[in-house]
Amino acid sequence: MTPSILLVEDESAVVELLRYNLDRAGYEVTVAMDGEEALLLACETKPDVILLDWMLPNLSGIEVCRRLRRDPNTRNTPIIMLTARGEESDRIRGLDTGADDFIAKPFSMNELMARLRAVMRRIRPGLTEDVTNYSDLTLDRAAMRVRRSGRDIHLGPTEFRLLDFFLQFPGRVFSREQLLDAVWGPDADVEARTVDVHVGRLRKAINGDSDSDLIRTVRSAGYALDGGALR
Ligand code: CA
Repeated sequence: MTPSILLVEDESAVVELLRYNLDRAGYEVTVAMDGEEALLLACETKPDVILLDWMLPNLSGIEVCRRLRRDPNTRNTPIIMLTARGEESDRIRGLDTGADDFIAKPFSMNELMARLRAVMRRIRPGLTEDVTNYSDLTLDRAAMRVRRSGRDIHLGPTEFRLLDFFLQFPGRVFSREQLLDAVWGPDADVEARTVDVHVGRLRKAINGDSDSDLIRTVRSAGYALDGGALR
């Protein structure tokens, strides 16, 4: 069964970005643009998870969270709050209101997906995969382990996140800027050239002595995970 998400956010740019990525990751997405609509849709669609923005017009995210917790229909639905406010006191206030997790904006898409997977694992074990296979490559998120043809591959944390991201969209070409956004986060003070360095390390590590290259360089476009092009 497809896991469903209610996304509550009033900024259409954020909605579109999230909708696109959640859709690609296999979630069924319903969007509410304000708090009242969120309460209505939460009751109607009974989502598996609610992604709730803190800053909403009229009813604030915190108030929505409080009301969702009072409603028997949504009392136990996991709520992840999105917030521009990273301060500890806000976090505590949010958790007191019944939010299960917090993600500060701007967030990296990879981080958000990882948090979502963690929530889904908790509520519907067996639904989200810890292990992804691609070609002769295996990535185990729980064990933070990568193997290719049975051989252990040691990756740095950035290379691991890069590979995890590529594995979510095999074959698709990503520009350096898109990879920066997804893996380092939109606020990271990192140059596009840094992406080349980490992709280079990842390529070297996963290819090893193998004669097939799993990463395709697309001139002036970017990189893609692509199965077994001969070197
Ligand atoms: Ca907002």
